[in-house]
Amino acid sequence: FNMKRVDAYLSSLGYCSRSEARKFMKQNEITVLDKRVFNPSTKASHKDIKVNQEALDSEKLLILLNKPKDYICSHNDAGKLIYSLLPKRWQNRNPKISTIGRLDIDTTGLILLTDDGELNHRLTSPKKDIKKIYEVTLLNPLNGDEKELFSSGTILLNGEDKPLKPAKLTIINDTLVHLEIVEGKYHQVKRMFAYTKNKVIKLHRVSFADTFLEDLKEGSFKELDINLFID
Ligand code: URA
Repeated sequence: FNMKRVDAYLSSLGYCSRSEARKFMKQNEITVLDKRVFNPSTKASHKDIKVNQEALDSEKLLILLNKPKDYICSHNDAGKLIYSLLPKRWQNRNPKISTIGRLDIDTTGLILLTDDGELNHRLTSPKKDIKKIYEVTLLNPLNGDEKELFSSGTILLNGEDKPLKPAKLTIINDTLVHLEIVEGKYHQVKRMFAYTKNKVIKLHRVSFADTFLEDLKEGSFKELDINLFID
């Protein structure tokens, strides 16, 4: 089994810093196979360690979060960072938890986060055609030709060298639609409607890679199985 030092687990999982480990182990009950340990250099495997009778947090996290407006998908920005919605301990993990792709500051809805760099890369790779569904509220009524135009794969946005891949438009009424895209270009949905001389006034993501918000409240999150996207 994969054995590591107890202080390495505690610091990488955000319980305390490496230098605080000795004190943390005095103030909290750390056990290995139900025997209390005090030495930070004790080696153990993840599944055998408990903190105050509870299993350690998962070694890798996959989180589904309902992003509120005004939160930013960035680690280094003034303003409200999306990570501040997560538990303190998760915010202190190393490697850090990052969003899988980004939503604009004024976009709400489903965003996944993970500290698994390989998984993040896999779900953001432009080659993989990961499906995203947005609910889009428009300033002006549809022209009527958007469904055909978006599905045609001929739209060349300013500054891009290749046309967008076909996207699927589902019309709810003339200012409310669902748009399914398989790319994630910068401000893509807003730019697609700007291309049709319209303007997005509200943007909400309801699905990413076949995960859905269901009844998750705005600002809330849930942990998903890290193996969800392993086939
Ligand atoms: N497209 C946008 O324009 N903004 C988002 O946040 C996501 C997709």
